[in-house]
Amino acid sequence: MKNKTVDLQTENLGTVSLKTEGLQVTLNTEDTGESTFESFGIRSELLKAISRKGFTSPTPVQQKVLEAGGDADLIVRAKTGSGKTLAFLLPLLQDMKVGERFPRMLILSPTRELAQQIAREAEWLVRFMDLSVVSLVGGLEMSPQLRALREGATIVVGTPGRTLDHVERGSLDTTNVGCVVLDEGDQMLDMGFREELEGILDALPAERRTWLFSATMPPEVRELSKRYLENPTTISLVQDGDQHEDILHRVYMIPSRRRFEGLVNVLLWERPKRSLMFCHTRLESIEMAQRLQEEGFNAAALHGDMTQRERNAVLASFKSGAMPHLVATNVAARGLDVEGVTHVIQLGLPDDRETFVHRSGRTGRAGNEGTNLILLSPLEAGRFKMMLRSTQMKVEWQDVPNLDLIRTVQREVAEEKLLVSQGDSENCTAYIEWASDLLERADPKVLVAKLLEALHSRTAKGYNLSADLERERERRQRSSARPERSEGERRFAGSRPKGTMTRLRSSQGGAKDVGRILNALCSALKVERCEVGAIRLKDDHVMVELLPVALARLEQGRAGLAKWGLFPEEDPVRYIKARGSHEPARGSRDSYERRGEPSKGRYARGKRNDA
Ligand code: ADP
Ligand code: MG
Repeated sequence: MKNKTVDLQTENLGTVSLKTEGLQVTLNTEDTGESTFESFGIRSELLKAISRKGFTSPTPVQQKVLEAGGDADLIVRAKTGSGKTLAFLLPLLQDMKVGERFPRMLILSPTRELAQQIAREAEWLVRFMDLSVVSLVGGLEMSPQLRALREGATIVVGTPGRTLDHVERGSLDTTNVGCVVLDEGDQMLDMGFREELEGILDALPAERRTWLFSATMPPEVRELSKRYLENPTTISLVQDGDQHEDILHRVYMIPSRRRFEGLVNVLLWERPKRSLMFCHTRLESIEMAQRLQEEGFNAAALHGDMTQRERNAVLASFKSGAMPHLVATNVAARGLDVEGVTHVIQLGLPDDRETFVHRSGRTGRAGNEGTNLILLSPLEAGRFKMMLRSTQMKVEWQDVPNLDLIRTVQREVAEEKLLVSQGDSENCTAYIEWASDLLERADPKVLVAKLLEALHSRTAKGYNLSADLERERERRQRSSARPERSEGERRFAGSRPKGTMTRLRSSQGGAKDVGRILNALCSALKVERCEVGAIRLKDDHVMVELLPVALARLEQGRAGLAKWGLFPEEDPVRYIKARGSHEPARGSRDSYERRGEPSKGRYARGKRNDA
């Protein structure tokens, strides 16, 4: 197939021109008009399901993919919440036969929750096509998955580890799979998924379509995609650093050691109906959720150390609205579509711009407006500005609201309830007699004060933070007047040193605990923690990202590592993800979820032939 260039004219971008050789396809999207699903020739079974769902017209990305579709490999980039799931499902289902009983379509996603969500979306869409959907995710029992596959599931949605497991067991028959979609494609091509992904792709027929979808697509990932995609057509409705017009970004400056107190003040001030908060580590998400509960907020944590059942239950109560605040690791950063999330709150500096974009994109979905709050210390604020340099993103800056402001707003809200709303509800009338009786027997002022106290006993009061913030700011100004910078700042200011992904084989469960591995590396190699980057746990080995000093000491550290049951492989792999965390990704982070996803016997595989 020839290379294609797709020229797109979109509302916000002007012309996007992608120069390659060969055929040029120009899609003028300036006036998309009132397109309907019918006008795209969507088959009747799908139209019926779509109209039951209440969708009237395809979103821009859905239109583009339906137009471009065909047999080509695709790289599709469109903003968060723009309907990418249907954008790949619709054209692929167009070609499928009603009632088929073997796997025809494979969709891979970086997290279990996202895979389950895509499966649910596919389920309502195919209800009139007599096709069934299975989700193959880790952390849940095998038997229902095996049964669904035996009974002839046609659409398979999975996470890489569990999907490869089914391929290797022979329970997933890949011979008729004509298309594979990598949702959140840039993350799927990340080093951490490489082995599973190659194992799965190797097992698929060579004649197939491979589609890559994401809101972000860094240049190095586009380069890497050549390994897996053949002359792909690129459809891009968004560019690096574009503003998502439905999301308002607001930074709150918080004293660095008082992040939790800052969060409480921000919650009391912003009063989000439903908020999704992001932390860096699992431990932090647990602590934050616990402390929020102690302050009277209805909050829970979502992270990779929970069982899948717990994760599903927490997400379900967040979705239903029963539990309005969720504190998550990056396991919830990508793809999750929860209706009514009014606020995303990012605690501290996000790892990189992509993480920032995806986390923010959990709000402002499907045309709704949302607010993205970023809570930063003065030091982090400087780094954040650097992260967003060369982008068009507009960000509001504010100091954390202080106690006096919070008291004022709390008072206004309480008084509105007491004075403005009518006191004639059934419940209220029932109390009137009691109230008159009490007023006769007690001093009204004392009575009201006691009632107010009782009313607010479970409500957070907020913290005094402005003095701390001022002090910290002054300290920073003084220190930035000095020429020399800390190691951390030097790291951030320049490009981050590239880490090298190294495989450590392990014995006796040596690769089961990230903290232990970090300790082992630091003590055996005699390096600081910041010399160790990402740590990815596998079944019988671990992939660690070593920064230059740690890598240089690997040979002399062999004996030390052996004592911890860790054995470095001879030939470390150059780490391709040059962008990314400016702080090393520590073990307990959930950049994505793969624990407990067995993936055995894959080392025997040769590398995929790039041709
Ligand atoms: P993305 O993958 O781009 O982040 P999703 O596919 O998760 O976005 O879709 C975001 C939301 O928009 C979902 O709730 C989805 O059901 C809804 N949606 C998708 N297509 C349409 C449409 N054509 N009309 C209305 N809503 C849609
Ligand atoms: Mg998506």
